[in-house]
Amino acid sequence: MQIMIQENINLKPYNTFGIDVTARYFSQFSAIAELREMIHYKLPNNNKLILGGGSNLLFTKDFDGLVLKNELTGIELIKQDEEYVYVKAGAGENWHQFVLHCLAHDYAGVENLSLIPGNVGASPMQNIGAYGVEIKDIFHELEAFHIDEQALQTFSLNDCRFDYRESVFKRHYKNQFVIVSVTYRLKKIPQFNINYGAISQELETMGVKDLTIQAISQAVINIRSSKLPDWKEAGNAGSFFKNPLIENQQFGELKLNFPGMVAFPADNDQTKLAAGWLIEQCGWKGYREGDAGCYPNQALVLVNYGNAKGKDIYDLSEKIIQSVSEKFGVVLEREVNVN
Ligand SMILES: Cc1cc2nc3c(=O)[nH]c(=O)nc-3n(C[C@H](O)[C@H](O)[C@H](O)COP(=O)(O)OP(=O)(O)OC[C@H]3O[C@@H](n4cnc5c(N)ncnc54)[C@H](O)[C@@H]3O)c2cc1C
Repeated sequence: MQIMIQENINLKPYNTFGIDVTARYFSQFSAIAELREMIHYKLPNNNKLILGGGSNLLFTKDFDGLVLKNELTGIELIKQDEEYVYVKAGAGENWHQFVLHCLAHDYAGVENLSLIPGNVGASPMQNIGAYGVEIKDIFHELEAFHIDEQALQTFSLNDCRFDYRESVFKRHYKNQFVIVSVTYRLKKIPQFNINYGAISQELETMGVKDLTIQAISQAVINIRSSKLPDWKEAGNAGSFFKNPLIENQQFGELKLNFPGMVAFPADNDQTKLAAGWLIEQCGWKGYREGDAGCYPNQALVLVNYGNAKGKDIYDLSEKIIQSVSEKFGVVLEREVNVN
């Protein structure tokens, strides 16, 4: 088998932040056998980065190792019962194309997750979520390749330890497994979820009378397109920070000083604060320093207006974390993977 490992490849086209850095080695695989070969390949160092669509990454420096770009494709209906279909997708499939495939076949459950950038393989990494739905709600199992042991392993819903923008792969098994396929459990009869955000309002504006998963998807696409910057025009990775979870008691105290604080009830006596609101209150919304900035329409999104370095974006995020901590006593955590 002929595998190709390129040297000194510019990663700007491979990350939605548009950061201009170089990978010492770069390779793409479209079969597990190729992945095995690449892992065996002797390189001066052992650093590896698995790359999907590059939409949740911030490169702060050149990558001194091997970038493995996942190109495993294929979407397959593997089984069904009265209520569900089980659909397996290759990790390199584009996420939104997968959503469109489901809509075309009337497989329900992914419609609220329309237009999230990136690939299928990264969808369980941080349990992607939007408009009241997370991957854990439609997840069945995944297959991942253990880099050191050179073996495939199956992970069930419990094994993945999904949480808010978290899974066992994001920290515990970071860079140890390559996710090669994900199987989703989707409904034959839809259970519509339109209570979150502005979905029902948008459906009304669209004049939708008979609710369908296709209409919900279009509503989500319309809302996202109006709110989020197009990364092809202003580089970004979506929400840069997580919405922080705090104890209800701390929230009660904060609410006395900041009655307008935006928050949502969460599990385990906790409250989820809107990080965008906290950042906006500290005066960062629309702020720009060189080509690094805080998006004027959504403070949670940091943007590269052209030639910002990853370090510029990172430094801006540090300043934001510090000022939010000083004003509210709440420490923001980055959602984006920093390299
Ligand atoms: C405009 C915009 C809007 C966004 N909106 C949302 C949103 O609504 N909700 C949400 O949750 N996210 C959102 N995101 C973030 C991002 O789209 C998701 O996190 C997406 O799942 C990342 O996929 P990717 O293929 O681009 O991953 P990458 O950025 O390529 O990788 C992300 C991480 O996963 C690892 N990884 C990637 N593929 C694999 C694999 N096959 N096996 C093992 N590890 C792997 C990488 O090493 C890296 O650590 C948004 C991003 C943008 C730019």
